[in-house]
Amino acid sequence: MKPIHDFQLPSRDVYGKWMLPMVEIFETIEGEGMYQGFPTVFVRSFHCNLRCTWCDTSYSYAPAKPAFKAAIDDIAAQAARFSSRHICFTGGEPLIHQQKSAALILALCAIEHVTDVHIETNGAIDLAPFARLREKDPMLAKKMRFVMDYNSRGLRRNGENDPEQLQLDRPAR
Ligand code: SF4
Repeated sequence: MKPIHDFQLPSRDVYGKWMLPMVEIFETIEGEGMYQGFPTVFVRSFHCNLRCTWCDTSYSYAPAKPAFKAAIDDIAAQAARFSSRHICFTGGEPLIHQQKSAALILALCAIEHVTDVHIETNGAIDLAPFARLREKDPMLAKKMRFVMDYNSRGLRRNGENDPEQLQLDRPAR
């Protein structure tokens, strides 16, 4: 069993100013998963720890460059401009920024009209500290969920999914 560490996030006044490299923020119709067909805001951050052979978003990691950099407050404000109640936080790999990824998840979940923030993760980043956030905060428990892409090692160019992650990829009770 791996030791679980918690993110120690400062106040919103502080983390709201943290900068993240970004690719795009746009509203469209969700094409996958349990909310397929619902209007959804896609928040796509830059960087990925894998290089999958089938990747269709290679513009979201090197050697491509971020389209822009933005503070977490600004990213949340841009997402809040749309009326969709669903947000897909994706990449690249959205959890690769660790504390900053956690802070952005908090800021997106804090948008009042948003009821669902789903995080499309590749399963090769430790979910435990993110799952702990959800356990500790009833608002996150209601709004935050993971959508994990689980693939066999043979399909990856590097990295691999961690089977322990599947234990964490479920709603908090
Ligand atoms: S994890 Fe996703 S973004 Fe990263 S290389 Fe694979 S398909 Fe592309």
